[in-house]
Amino acid sequence: MTYDTNNIFAKILRGEIPCHKIYEDAHVLAFMDVMPQVDGHALVIPKAPSRNLLDADPAVFAPLFAAVQKVANAAKQAFDAEGVLIKQFNEAAAGQTVYHLHVHVLPRKDGQELKPHSGKMADHALLAKQAEAYRAALKV
Ligand code: 5GP
Repeated sequence: MTYDTNNIFAKILRGEIPCHKIYEDAHVLAFMDVMPQVDGHALVIPKAPSRNLLDADPAVFAPLFAAVQKVANAAKQAFDAEGVLIKQFNEAAAGQTVYHLHVHVLPRKDGQELKPHSGKMADHALLAKQAEAYRAALKV
């Protein structure tokens, strides 16, 4: 399986499709998931191309997971979460739908239900507000 340079996250990285940005550095971009399973559902992606974890250059993992940790702590603060769920899918059989490596960050509260994966599109004004809450928690 090869990397498709026209996948949606590659287009977001090239600025061809907008996103509600949370955090960016030389190696990663973090933004709101447009079909969130909970309020504050974020995605963290490396800038380097790979379909998923299976074909990624191991060098991407250190900066990627450093950013995941930052965003997870910000999720806890900004969404008053009791815990943070980190999810990452590899290939269709495992639930992957967008073929650029990404890590899901979901703020969690005890007993709170998760909406379906890739379910309903969220209101853009709400996502913009939530991205702002993340940026305030990250102080960026
Ligand atoms: P996967 O199933 O590949 O792990 O997850 C892909 C995620 O990307 C899903 O949670 C889906 O809601 C999200 N997603 C799909 N298209 C877009 C998009 O155009 N923009 C953003 N921000 N998220 C997307």
